[in-house]
Amino acid sequence: DYDLELVKLRKVYPGGTVAVENFDLQVKKGEFISFVGPSGCGKTTTLRMIAGLESITGGNLLIRGNDYTHVPTEKRPTATIFQNYAIFPHMTVRQNIAFGLKVRKLPTDEVDRRVDAIIEKLELGDVAGEKEASLSGGQKQRLALGRGLVTEPDILLLDEPLGALDANLRKSIQEELKILQRELGITFVFVTHAQSEALSMGDRVVVMNAGRVEQISPPFELYTRP
Ligand code: ADP
Ligand code: ADP
Repeated sequence: DYDLELVKLRKVYPGGTVAVENFDLQVKKGEFISFVGPSGCGKTTTLRMIAGLESITGGNLLIRGNDYTHVPTEKRPTATIFQNYAIFPHMTVRQNIAFGLKVRKLPTDEVDRRVDAIIEKLELGDVAGEKEASLSGGQKQRLALGRGLVTEPDILLLDEPLGALDANLRKSIQEELKILQRELGITFVFVTHAQSEALSMGDRVVVMNAGRVEQISPPFELYTRP
């Protein structure tokens, strides 16, 4: 029983670049998986295929045993947090968090209940009526997380979410992510080019190189080449 299965996943971009080849992975529910590897090795492409933001050229993608290979993004039980956060600048924190639920046409009282819970969990109460321009880096980061979590995804996809943060903030967000993993029991896929981050965050680490998987193992069992 796996939350996420990639079976011989393959991506060829128009123009012929083979970005991902023969990618096999099985992820258990609640696991925190890191993808690491040099720029251009195919991490983001793989994440975007899982999210349904990039078409899959070959192979299969299963979520909780169901085939999602060709299912559009809005019908996938995934949420994606991007490095640049993609916060709507003209909306308040509260409206930003509610947006994904309104798009899904949830009843207003259900939207309010879920948004309140997320605002409390991520300690955004003091800035709930503020817009992006008046938020700190950490508040923006938590807002981006809140927008993903409010949809109650099975799988949370994080694309270099800590890259733009200073060292102290990065550490506190890392800790927050691990707490959320424990509390919510959802599955995390975390993309980074920073090996130390991949190792400290991941229950298992997928090491990629030139579109292929080189190793999949718990951090303490990773080997490095001479
Ligand atoms: P990473 O996230 O590890 O930096 P990417 O998945 O972004 O790697 O890129 C993998 C390969 O696919 C690279 O060779 C990159 O140039 C190429 N690539 C990424 N996006 C596109 C695109 N939209 N069109 C064509 N080639 C792309
Ligand atoms: P990352 O390293 O985070 O994967 P990049 O800076 O490589 O991001 O890519 C930024 C954007 O450019 C992405 O949307 C990616 O799909 C696109 N891109 C990357 N490489 C290519 C390429 N060779 N041709 C076209 N688009 C590309």
